[in-house]
Amino acid sequence: MPLIDRDPLLLTPGPLSTSLRTKQAMLHDWGSWDAGFNAVTAEVCRQLVEVVHGDGSHVCVPLQGSGSFAVEAALGTLLPPGGKVLVPNHGAYCARILKILATMGRQAVELALAEDAAMDPAAIDAALAADPAISHVAVVHCETGTGILNPLADIAAVVAARGRRLIVDAMSSFGAVEIDARTTPFDAVVAASGKCLEGVPGMGFAIVRREALEACAGRSHSLALDLHDQWQYLQRTTQWRFTPPTHVVAALDEALRQFQEEGGVAARGARYAANRDRLVQGMATLGLAPLLRPELQSPVIVTFHAPAHPAWDFGAFYRGVRERGFILYPGKLTRIETFRVGCIGALALHDIDAVVDAVARTLRALGLPTHA
Ligand SMILES: *Cc1c(COP(=O)(O)O)cnc(C)c1O
Repeated sequence: MPLIDRDPLLLTPGPLSTSLRTKQAMLHDWGSWDAGFNAVTAEVCRQLVEVVHGDGSHVCVPLQGSGSFAVEAALGTLLPPGGKVLVPNHGAYCARILKILATMGRQAVELALAEDAAMDPAAIDAALAADPAISHVAVVHCETGTGILNPLADIAAVVAARGRRLIVDAMSSFGAVEIDARTTPFDAVVAASGKCLEGVPGMGFAIVRREALEACAGRSHSLALDLHDQWQYLQRTTQWRFTPPTHVVAALDEALRQFQEEGGVAARGARYAANRDRLVQGMATLGLAPLLRPELQSPVIVTFHAPAHPAWDFGAFYRGVRERGFILYPGKLTRIETFRVGCIGALALHDIDAVVDAVARTLRALGLPTHA
C-alpha cells in the first residue's frame, strides 16, 4: 500500500515535477500545419533567445528529442570538417560529449579534470595554447553528475581570446543561472524543455549565433539532427521539419509564461538556491553531508555522501523514500558512494522539508543513523 495518494514529487535533474497549469496546457490536440501552433513555436523560440539576451545576434533552433539529441545536433551541425574539439571533462555529462564526438568520428581532445572541482579557465587556456589545431571548446555549464557549476563567463573569455569557438551544454542551468550572450561569447548554448524551464521533456533547443549557423549548410552528418536545415525550414514555412512534439511545445509555452511571472532567471535561480540551502541544512541534521564545498555547489542538484554504514543500500533507501512520496536519484561518481537530490522543478520550501522528513523516516526504518 502506498502511503501517499498523489504522484511522487521528482527531486531529480529532469524530468521534473511540473505545475498544474503546465500539465493542463497539454489537454488539447494541435495540427502541425496549423497557424496557431506555429505561432506558439515562434513565440517560444523568441522567448528562449531572450532568456540569454541574444535578440538580434542569436537564433533559437528547436529540436525534437531529449537534451542529448540537441547536444549531438549542435556538435554535428557547427563543427566544420577537420574541426577539433577540446572537452574539459569532470563528470558524466562532459563524458557524454566525448562519447558523442567519438560516435560521430570527430576529432576530440579530452582535458581530464578532478570530478570534485570546477573547471579552471587557466587549464583550458593552457590546453588551447598547446594545440593550435583545436577549433572549438565544448563545455558543460552545470555538471549535473555532481552538481558543480562552472565559471562560464570566464571560460568563454579565455576561448574567445584564443580565437576559438565555444559550444555550451547548459541543459541543467538554462533558466536558473544567468547566461548573457552580450558579454559571454558562444556559438551555441544547448538546453531542453524539461529542466529549469519546468516544461515537460521532449524538446531540445540550441541558441546559436546567427553568423555561425549561416555558415553550416550541409555540414551535419545526420538529416534528422541537422540544425541548419531545421532552422531554414522553420524560417521558410514556420513549421517544424518533421512531426513536432506538439504537447511539449504547448506545455513549454505555458511554463515560460510562469517563468516570466515568477521573475525570470534571477527569481527562479533564487528559489532553487533557497531549496538547496534548506535541503543541505535539513540533511545535515540527519548526518548527511554534501560532496561539494558550498562555493562549487550549483542551485540545481546536490550530491550527498551515502551513510558509511553496513545497512546502507541505495535501492532500499530509494524505495523507502518513494513510498513516502518522493523520487531521488542515484549518484554518478565512479569511486565514492553517493546519492543525488534535485532542487529544481515546481518545488517550494515546504516540499523540501517534506523530503527531509521522508529521508529521516526511511533511514530509521532501515536501521540507519539519523543524527550528525
Ligand atoms: C539532462 C542533461 C542532458 C541531457 O540528457 P538527456 O538524458 O538527453 O535529457 C545533457 N547535459 C546535462 C548537463 C544534463 O543535465
